[in-house]
Amino acid sequence: MRYLLISDIHSNWEALQAVVADAAGQFDRILCCGDLVGYGADPDLVVDWTRANVGPIVRGNHDRVMGDAEALEWFNPVARAAILWTRQTMSPANLEYAANLPKGPLHCDAFTLAHGTPLDEDEYVSNDLEAQMAFAYVERPVTFFGHTHVQCAFQAVRRSVQAFRSPRRQAREWALDLDPGSWYLVNPGSVGQPRDRDPRAAYALYEPESREVLFRRAAYDIAAAQRKIQAAGLPEPLASRLAGGR
Ligand code: ZN
Repeated sequence: MRYLLISDIHSNWEALQAVVADAAGQFDRILCCGDLVGYGADPDLVVDWTRANVGPIVRGNHDRVMGDAEALEWFNPVARAAILWTRQTMSPANLEYAANLPKGPLHCDAFTLAHGTPLDEDEYVSNDLEAQMAFAYVERPVTFFGHTHVQCAFQAVRRSVQAFRSPRRQAREWALDLDPGSWYLVNPGSVGQPRDRDPRAAYALYEPESREVLFRRAAYDIAAAQRKIQAAGLPEPLASRLAGGR
């Protein structure tokens, strides 16, 4: 079984299409670590596609708050504006789908899906220390997560942590061979709003049999996604940040 791993799509249809085209023919099943919506201008296209194509999935913090009653005070003003716009724009069926996605961690076979940490979908795993704390709560050798929008992996090595990131700027892909005796936290990066200074859409391919994770970047039509954000009246920083991958 070959898996396509995606996370943090954030209503960016152009980025999602580029990922699916780039990975075509190289996977059997799609896994998603949450945040289908928020920030971008195409929530319905992204959620319709997800409902038709994605297998195991957990909700992200932006999906959870599609339920009307959910409080938004945790979000900064720009994120909050995008959430309110999405609530007004997206179809009732898709709002309900997003709000009712399962909360992580979701255990499937030999791996787990989570949005933030395995314990808390709002918590970030962005450095060795946070990874070390998160490893205390993992229940499978491989845990896939998102939320930080940074493509990376962490390996538990005795009492410390080894971090892995793209070995070379602008690399189109890099591979990580998982050691059979080790435990890993793996972030495929963000499809729709990367924040690791590489504006290309991020994703990963995973093959349990060969124990290989292939981290990938796919160029997409950023200008088209930006124009839609501007036309929708969403806050300008949501358009401009896409160009810098920040
Ligand atoms: Zn996100």
